[in-house]
Parts: sequence; C-alpha cells; structure tokens
Amino acid sequence: MLIIGLTGGIGSGKSAAADCFRALGIDVVDADWAARVVVQPGQPALAQIAQHFGAEVLLENGALDRARLRSLVFDNEAERKWLEGLLHPLIREEILRALEASKSAYAILESPLLIESGQYKLVDRICVVDLPEELQIERAGARDGSDAEQIRKIMAAQLPREKRLEKADDVLDNSGDLASLRTQVEVLHRQYLQLVEENY
Ligand code: ADP
Repeated sequence: MLIIGLTGGIGSGKSAAADCFRALGIDVVDADWAARVVVQPGQPALAQIAQHFGAEVLLENGALDRARLRSLVFDNEAERKWLEGLLHPLIREEILRALEASKSAYAILESPLLIESGQYKLVDRICVVDLPEELQIERAGARDGSDAEQIRKIMAAQLPREKRLEKADDVLDNSGDLASLRTQVEVLHRQYLQLVEENY
C-alpha cells in the first residue's frame, strides 16, 4: 500500500492537513497516538519505565506522568537513548499494525518527528507542511497558550525548516488560509491516487 508520511514542525498544520485527507476518505495513522498507546497502563513498556526511573514517573492512577518523564530525559542523553531504545521499536510496531489495518486507497502516517525518529523508513513519500517560522510560532502559541520562547525550544529539538524541506517529496505551503491548505491537499490527493493507479 502507498504510505505517505506527513510531517512538519510544531504548529505547522499537520493536524489540519491530516483532517483534509480524512475528509477525502483517507486513513490517517497518528504517530503521537501510537506513542501513547505503547505506554498505557498494562503495557509492558510502562512497567519497564517505572522500574528504570522509579515510581515517581507514575501518576496516582498508575498512568505515565509524561511531563515528569520528559523532564527526566530532557537534558540527559543516556536516559533519552535508553527510553528511545525501548519505545521506538514498539511505536513502530503499533504504527505498522494500524497501517496494515487501513482500507483506504492509500494511507497517511502523521508524525512530527517522521525524519528525526527514523519513521520515514516506513513510508513511500514524505509530505512536508511548511510555513515561515514566525507564523509557526504565532499559530502554535495561539493553540497551546505558550510563549514564543517555549515554542522556539521545541523547534530547536526538531529538524530545522531547511533540512526538513530537503527531505520532502511533496510540500504543502500552509502560509495561507485553511481553504488554501484544503485545495493543495486535494491536488496532492489526486496525484497520490494516480500513483496508486500506476503502482507507484
Ligand atoms: P500541528 O499539528 O502541525 O502542530 P495544527 O494543525 O494543530 O499544527 O495547527 C496549529 C494551529 O494553527 C491550530 O490551532 C490550527 O487550527 C491552526 N491552523 C493550521 N493551519 C492554519 C491555517 N492555514 N490558517 C489558520 N490557522 C491554521
């Protein structure tokens, strides 16, 4: 099956673009969703994380305290590597399971860290949602209520705009309004259907 990786920085409009694809009947697998599923209570990975970092990474109801875990690994390369070594293969399996269950003409994998995490290896093409950084900060800030400095920090942990664009097979320019984004998605959708027809 043709699988398109949909990526972009924080606030670029990945979710908005994914909604446009969904409206056209295309299944979208969300890598963030897969990342949450693998650490749900009852999953072996959660027990391993609690054993490694201590019960302080668990909330009272037994769920993972994601903010706490993030702060523990943020400045600690070794711990981050340990966590990624545990979670990345599990997330990959979860994504593959969901993609295999897809019944649409092609499927989308929406992932903020498609390139950084190696998930691009699961897809046939990379579609980047692109916009100027100032607009990205403005939209992410309005959505999350966070200030420019917080957003810049997250952006610094993601691939720079130019590097991401270098990897793109397709680009959605989201510097315009949502109607413009929708129109561009419709154009790509027709191209993707054509690729499916030609066995890409
Ligand atoms: P991402 O999933 O990449 O983090 P979102 O799709 O959530 O980004 O978009 C970030 C914010 O910007 C959301 O509040 C969304 O509604 C808004 N947004 C996205 N695209 C546009 C657009 N073209 N015009 C105006 N607002 C937009």
